[in-house]
Amino acid sequence: MTHTCKNLLIRCMDFRLNSEIERWTKESELFEGGFDVVSIAGACKNLADGSEEIKENFLGNVAVSVDLHQAEKIIIFHHSDCGAYAQSYQFSSAEEEKEQQIEDMKKAKEIILEKYPKVEVILVFGIMEDGEGREVDFDIIKN
Ligand SMILES: [Zn+2]
Repeated sequence: MTHTCKNLLIRCMDFRLNSEIERWTKESELFEGGFDVVSIAGACKNLADGSEEIKENFLGNVAVSVDLHQAEKIIIFHHSDCGAYAQSYQFSSAEEEKEQQIEDMKKAKEIILEKYPKVEVILVFGIMEDGEGREVDFDIIKN
């Protein structure tokens, strides 16, 4: 029996995001055809700035989704007020944090496309409206 899905969601592990991500993945057409999930602190932060070993490990998870489950689209989701970023940076504003994260997301996209040139990569940044995750705005980042 083969089991396949169309998409891979790479998200931050932050528990505050759980209910809004659940709502989003049910409502958004981005996830049609089902999706795998890689849930890791800071989402693609480690792929952008981690050691070679960490990157290999990260890409191993992507490989299972793309090679085994035949995912065709990868949705990278980062969010404001991220603890993994707060451990590495001291941002002076939410805008500065967002800029750094978007830079990392774009770097991660390049690394993924080098290995999997046929997949579509979509970057989404979530603004946590209340700091607790009761309301998150999901913004697709234009390249
Ligand atoms: Zn986070």
